[in-house]
Amino acid sequence: MIAEIKTLSAYRCREKTLQNTIPCTGVGLHGGQKVRMALKPAGIGAGIRFVRTDVADRDNVIPASYLNVADARLCSCLRNAAGVSVSTVEHLMAALAGFGITNLTIELDGPEVPIMDGSATDFITLIRCAGIMDLDAPLKAVKILKEVVYADGKGAEVCLYPAREGLEIDFMIDFKQSSAIGRQEYSIALTERDFCDSVAYARTFCMAQEVEMMHKAGLARGGSLDNAVVVDGDKVLNPTGLRSENEFVVHKTMDVIGDLWQLGMPIIGHFSGAKSGHAQTNALLRQVMADPDAYAVVTLDEYRDELQAGRRNARRSA
Ligand SMILES: [Zn+2]
Repeated sequence: MIAEIKTLSAYRCREKTLQNTIPCTGVGLHGGQKVRMALKPAGIGAGIRFVRTDVADRDNVIPASYLNVADARLCSCLRNAAGVSVSTVEHLMAALAGFGITNLTIELDGPEVPIMDGSATDFITLIRCAGIMDLDAPLKAVKILKEVVYADGKGAEVCLYPAREGLEIDFMIDFKQSSAIGRQEYSIALTERDFCDSVAYARTFCMAQEVEMMHKAGLARGGSLDNAVVVDGDKVLNPTGLRSENEFVVHKTMDVIGDLWQLGMPIIGHFSGAKSGHAQTNALLRQVMADPDAYAVVTLDEYRDELQAGRRNARRSA
């Protein structure tokens, strides 16, 4: 019972934004360019929107919606109808999900969210410095009503199915080409505290061979051992090693949390992922939202009241 209540409190039931604007500077992982970014409070119903301040001749606003995901091979890249894009949004989006922030304007003067140290730790600090504010609007959630599965036919599978409250995630990876990663499993019922304490620290990772290939393709120019775990077979190349034994699967879980936040509201459901990435999570979201029988939009406060009334009735009849 206590665990159930804790899960639900992941989303205090108002739309949220930041109290103050907060700036930060970093480099883009793929372009390697310096990026200045500012997180700015936004009002009720605004959603999370990226604004490219370096683009003046076209629509420079890119809503953080799963429908705007244009390229999900290496990271989550969002693109608007005018062709203006922003890449590597997932770790910032995960931090916003962790705190339940639904409305925010994210200004940046380049095409990529700064990679920082490859985790969500710096974004957590920024959000805490800026402060979080409830808005006077009830928070809605997407409640999953039936199991929806997406498999890519190459071994990756993702699935959403009903859960009683909050978001539960389990994830499995199996890297046969690298014994340093190997097979790892992780599961979490998402709360703000658990996100900050147990998930946010985990850094992005890649194989040494991939780094070479990406460099040849002009990608990962900003990548270094300071912002990614790099693995070569059975070795972790970072001199300081891993932050935890299961850092890899925890990071993949964080990517899921960030990608799911592109719905614009929390999910009441259980996500299960196996060997999947951004592309499969996005395909699953599109599949769920295209099926009116698969979900319902509920007001979280009302849903919580119903749950508690249900529990009282169950105790009475027990
Ligand atoms: Zn990631």
